[in-house]
Amino acid sequence: MPQKKYLFTPGPTSVPPQVLAAMAEPVVHHRSPDFKPIYERCLTRLREVCRTEREVLLFTASGTGAFESAVANLVSPGDPHLVVSAGNFGERWAAMTAAYGADVDHLHYAWGETPEADDVRSRLRERTAKAVWVVHSETSTGVVADIQSLAAAAKEAGALVVVDAVSSLGAVPCETDAWGLDVVVAGSQKALMTPPGLGLCAVSEAASAATGSSPRFYFDWERTQKAQAKLDAAFTPSVSLVAGLDVALGLLLEEGLEAAFDRHVRLGRAARAGAKAMGLELFSPDDDRSAVVTAVRPPEGVDGGDVVKGLRDRFGITIAGGQGELQGKIFRLGHIGWFDVFDITTMLAAVECVLGDLGAEIERGVAVTAALDAYEHQPVA
Ligand code: PLP
Repeated sequence: MPQKKYLFTPGPTSVPPQVLAAMAEPVVHHRSPDFKPIYERCLTRLREVCRTEREVLLFTASGTGAFESAVANLVSPGDPHLVVSAGNFGERWAAMTAAYGADVDHLHYAWGETPEADDVRSRLRERTAKAVWVVHSETSTGVVADIQSLAAAAKEAGALVVVDAVSSLGAVPCETDAWGLDVVVAGSQKALMTPPGLGLCAVSEAASAATGSSPRFYFDWERTQKAQAKLDAAFTPSVSLVAGLDVALGLLLEEGLEAAFDRHVRLGRAARAGAKAMGLELFSPDDDRSAVVTAVRPPEGVDGGDVVKGLRDRFGITIAGGQGELQGKIFRLGHIGWFDVFDITTMLAAVECVLGDLGAEIERGVAVTAALDAYEHQPVA
């Protein structure tokens, strides 16, 4: 039998067959009546998923491209900006805003820490900022920040709030309008259950009115806003990805956003309960907000990279290793998007076997039992 493959990373994630089928349809022309209804429905569904009344701008780019649109539109050389980082992606945004010439105040936490609204408040008291740049779900560490309170701290100081929701949108609550988030950026390949290649950006009126002088063309918000208003994309979009995203968003909305958030909370609980039952130490916080990816420290003497390699070589299972300074020190179990509890138990059972191969003493079956128990028996608050 050919080896079965399992994709259990926090992005890209597995894509449901209905989405793959939509993407296998013949290619249509992006300015034809074949495409416009798909485009219109996809943009409408994106607004629903982002919980916003505003237009959500859709780019043929990965999440980083959509984020760069925010930087290119909001940063003018010399502008003061506050970037909050506690891992790989926050640090990327500090580097990107600096590359555009921003005068960056970097509120830098160690990887794995959780950013606090009071820290943002006191930094903004010392120095004003045009915008505060924050990561909702820091995929490199498994920490999901309390974005509502971070945004409130920024708003009190009159700053715009830009949120990296690349791995959180569709998995954990992100109330764009209700929480006053000026810019929310996400990508297709995570909880939105679509292959990589589409980036999106919900932009508030205040953010649209605050665009700066950095050079930009493809990622110019105004150009894309005007084109989308006429359902006439500014540039050739990846029509097949848009068709896939449309179906994926339909599936998510059919489940219901609240039900999807609830499912992700329980998936996170199951992953953490399983890891702890094996006697492993969690790197990501042991709380319900950590519903995107569970970061686990391997047992003493075992390299996290060897766990990743063992899962791939022995079982065809892809999980994520540690990035940057966490390389070898953790492995990450993704659980966003098209994911159920048996994906968690498959992953945990395989981790048990591989840790055994690597010399750790793990009692067989304990993780699976604990995970099923945690998933089923505790109501979500
Ligand atoms: N931000 C976060 C939190 C992510 O998880 C990712 C994904 O890798 C990115 C940004 C970058 O997105 P992309 O790889 O789609 O450019």
